[in-house]
Amino acid sequence: MARPRNNSKIQIPPRVKGFNPQGYYANPSEEVKLNIEEFEVIRLLDYENLSQLEASKIMEISRPSLTRIYDRARKKIAQALIEASPIRIEGGKIVYDETWYECLNCRSHFNKTGDNDVKRCPLCSSVEILKVEGEL
Ligand SMILES: [Zn+2]
Repeated sequence: MARPRNNSKIQIPPRVKGFNPQGYYANPSEEVKLNIEEFEVIRLLDYENLSQLEASKIMEISRPSLTRIYDRARKKIAQALIEASPIRIEGGKIVYDETWYECLNCRSHFNKTGDNDVKRCPLCSSVEILKVEGEL
């Protein structure tokens, strides 16, 4: 399967689908949507402390594209913090570095080891697993 040019490569899928503010009833319609590329840029730059150049090479996108994604991500996160909006992580043009699976039971993510197809979750042994590919 050919990969469209401008998809970002993602090393690690997010562990959760989003965040809710504490001590405040957040209206779901006010949620801020952070896509997977925006999440990954924050992870690489602010969590792993990589330079923008290093991060753009890892994600296989141009540095100006990375800077635009980073600006967008920070504005969204700031908006969520200040306005007490829930953050939902979804969507985006991405391709995973390896084959990833999501367990529908315990919501963990894991990848394929060896040549065998994954049949069970390594954590909870559930067979309710989903191959994560393309866009989430
Ligand atoms: Zn599981």
